[in-house]
Amino acid sequence: MNSLKAISLNVGIPTFIFLIFSLIVYYSPKVPEYIFLIAPYIFYALCAIIIWVSWHFNRNRFIFIILPLLLIDFGFENIEPLKASMLFFCASVLYPIHLLIFLTLKERGFFSVWGILKLLFFSIEIGIVLYVLNYENTYVNNLLGLKIFAHSFYPLKDIAIAIMLSVLSIFTALIIFNRYLIYNSTFLVLLISFCLGMYFLKTAYAVDMAFFSMAIMIFVLLIRETYRLAFYDELTSMPGRRALIEDMAKLGRKYALVMIDIDHFKKFNDTYGHDTGDEVLKMVASKLLAVSGGGKAYRYGGEEFTILFPSKDTEETFLHVDILRQNIATTPFVVRNKKKAKTIYINISAGLVQSTSKDKDPFAVMKRADNALYKAKDAGRNTVIKA
Ligand code: GH3
Ligand code: MG
Ligand code: MG
Repeated sequence: MNSLKAISLNVGIPTFIFLIFSLIVYYSPKVPEYIFLIAPYIFYALCAIIIWVSWHFNRNRFIFIILPLLLIDFGFENIEPLKASMLFFCASVLYPIHLLIFLTLKERGFFSVWGILKLLFFSIEIGIVLYVLNYENTYVNNLLGLKIFAHSFYPLKDIAIAIMLSVLSIFTALIIFNRYLIYNSTFLVLLISFCLGMYFLKTAYAVDMAFFSMAIMIFVLLIRETYRLAFYDELTSMPGRRALIEDMAKLGRKYALVMIDIDHFKKFNDTYGHDTGDEVLKMVASKLLAVSGGGKAYRYGGEEFTILFPSKDTEETFLHVDILRQNIATTPFVVRNKKKAKTIYINISAGLVQSTSKDKDPFAVMKRADNALYKAKDAGRNTVIKA
């Protein structure tokens, strides 16, 4: 389950964007006219940047999320009113489902199974919309007339509201329980902006500003995603070596540094397989991430981790590191080998040092921590050695 703090931060960022645009729409008579005149061009430019960046970073989910907005926008501007009202209906029913599908489908290249599945789904959607726009269909007419709620949400049809509410609740559940918080939370606010934009169709600029705010949310998500790619380790979701080097450059004169290594990990990999080894790394990472005493944990590489304690010395930090060691050593890890479950225990060794005036740079401190770590291994492992 995600912490309330993480949820508030992740939901807060897109919500802030949403609120700014809601204010612009609300106060539109007071907003200078030229803002609305240039807005569409900025929207198109932003869409182009999103498509270009996501193509380069192989994050095609963003392309599939932004394209329907461009198509809907194009349709509203260019087709006759009767067809436009059918397009409005199709969009209000399909886009929430579209968001859900594209949030769920794995992020792989265009030409992978997942990529082809996405292209296929998108083509089916376009096919449906083109069909509904051009041909009468009793099934669609029934959907249009379907009454679900006592209250009318005109211009939205009941079926659209029912789908929107369902997807909204799924996103909310994902935010609470799923680990991809940065995606789930943005998708929730994207959906809310879309639904409100559609509901306030008749309000001047509402749809345009809703789409514009969505493009900005997607752009911000893309930037956060590229940041995460650069600084966070994929397997453990903890900061990686690049983040460690950045943070080491910002340290003051006094700090403590710990190098940690999993004991006999090679043997573990050989016995239970690389995948189980990965699970162990995730377990150890989750324990290290919860370090107390003001420390921050990083994956240094392989089965090695580093913890930085800014403004602390070894006296102040030893206990916090030893608690981690004990915590990991006493956490049962269940391996399923040939359908038989077996409980094993993982140990770590750690070398703890503090900065001194003799150290040229944090890398010299790191070197001493490494030496302390070797001593911990020599001393029989599952120990913390304070240098
Ligand atoms: P020691 O107690 O002396 O540290 O012994 P060790 O076996 O842990 O030491 P060694 O450094 O020789 O082995 C590290 C192993 O970690 C080798 C490699 O297969 C494994 N490893 C490194 N990165 C990963 C990873 O991302 N996933 C998995 N499953 N294994 C990894
Ligand atoms: Mg090692
Ligand atoms: Mg090791």
